[in-house]
Amino acid sequence: MTTVFGELDHVLLMAPGPSPVAPNVLKAMSIPTLGHLDPDCIKVMDAMQDQLRAVCKTKNAVTFPISGTGSAGMEATFVNLVERGDDVLIVNNGVFCSRMVEVATRLGAQVDVVECPWGQPIDPAAVKAQLDKKHYKILAAVHAETSTGINNPIAAIGELVKNSDTLYLVDSVAGLGGVDMRVDEWGIDAFYSGSQKCLSVPPGLAPASFSDAAMETIAKRKTKVPNWYMDVSLIRKYWEGSPRVYHHTAPINMYYAMHQALDNLLTEGLDASFARHVAMHQRLTDGLAKLGFTPYVKEGGAPQINLFLPPAGVDANTLRACLRKEHKIEVAGGLGDLAGKVIRVGVMGEGAREEPIDRLINAIKACIN
Ligand code: PLP
Repeated sequence: MTTVFGELDHVLLMAPGPSPVAPNVLKAMSIPTLGHLDPDCIKVMDAMQDQLRAVCKTKNAVTFPISGTGSAGMEATFVNLVERGDDVLIVNNGVFCSRMVEVATRLGAQVDVVECPWGQPIDPAAVKAQLDKKHYKILAAVHAETSTGINNPIAAIGELVKNSDTLYLVDSVAGLGGVDMRVDEWGIDAFYSGSQKCLSVPPGLAPASFSDAAMETIAKRKTKVPNWYMDVSLIRKYWEGSPRVYHHTAPINMYYAMHQALDNLLTEGLDASFARHVAMHQRLTDGLAKLGFTPYVKEGGAPQINLFLPPAGVDANTLRACLRKEHKIEVAGGLGDLAGKVIRVGVMGEGAREEPIDRLINAIKACIN
């Protein structure tokens, strides 16, 4: 018997997730596995929680990674806060906002949607108009819309519900680490991200944070959280207090990876990381402009998620296939209405560096000439 590992290509990941993983993060993952209640495991967890609070800019006690990908973060925030019949307002300008609508609807929420044009940041005035008409238990928005390459104005939208009892739920799967996120200052009550984007950790963890107001709402639920695995009131007992209470077996090698990647990020400095993402976005945009590519987003595009319309005569999917086959580089295609029309390039975490950006530009040049 033999594995297929020897046949695998070493692919440069330049799609908007997963992003390249730093060698020291891969190395950390190979530290021998510890038991989930071992004192050394708890040491890693405590340190990682402090790092996450620093990166999310929050003092929330309930801050830890949910076991699972970004979608697990989405499920965890909604399933803990929503009870059947609750009024939920979701602001929609892309695929991942639409997924929120699906998740909340499945939980029996009364979901209203503020539909906003794709490819443009959300206009807070449109959200305010709906909030003026009706009271909502939850207002939900996506920070970085990966399908269209937009960073939404999360702070301005949060202002609309700041002094109310409406809870603010935010997805920053594709933003955290690459662009600023201020959970406390922006009044976010339920927050989640994903490991595999700007944090440059393999997929499998969803950093999450819940405010005291969110935890009080959960404590007052009339019904039990319908999903045992995602019940944060149970999971929190594993993350704080003594003795720690087993909930599910911790994916400790993923914790090693997250702990190392967050150390890399905090050692660089958050502001330096944000500036690097902007600079590398510019380098990519300038390089591809010389090859005739135009950005899909005209104004306010996210530095970490770049959508480009190819020049006339270049087919987006043929180009992607060439990049993968001839140059061992992955970029993504368009989602939804943009399928086949654009390429989506991640400038995320370890991918937001000169060497991978230049390698991609040169490969695109070779593919289209
Ligand atoms: N939310 C956003 C904004 C995303 O970009 C993604 C994935 O790309 C998700 C949620 C879902 O995350 P995952 O695919 O890790 O489950």
